[in-house]
Amino acid sequence: MVPVQIKIKEKNYLFIKWNDGIETSIKLSNLRKNCPCAVCISERDNNSSKYIPIYSSEQLSVIDIRMVGSYAIGITWADDHNTGIYDFNYLKKISELNQ
Ligand SMILES: [Zn+2]
Repeated sequence: MVPVQIKIKEKNYLFIKWNDGIETSIKLSNLRKNCPCAVCISERDNNSSKYIPIYSSEQLSVIDIRMVGSYAIGITWADDHNTGIYDFNYLKKISELNQ
């Protein structure tokens, strides 16, 4: 499954249209909260599951989305955090969680 369209919607959602016709949206706060980079994963591991992160507006603004190979996208946030590589399966998974 691959995206045929990816865009930021209403400055608040990552909208993805998949090649099977399904459309999903992921709230940017959930996208950031589920950032799959090593730094964010270890931060999440160090906090309890009840921890609710507070983000600045920079941390929730996407300034760039790039393709990584043919299996993932990389997201650059306005606070320069750009190490999170979201593979398509993962994107599908977190968008299902948040619908
Ligand atoms: Zn991260």
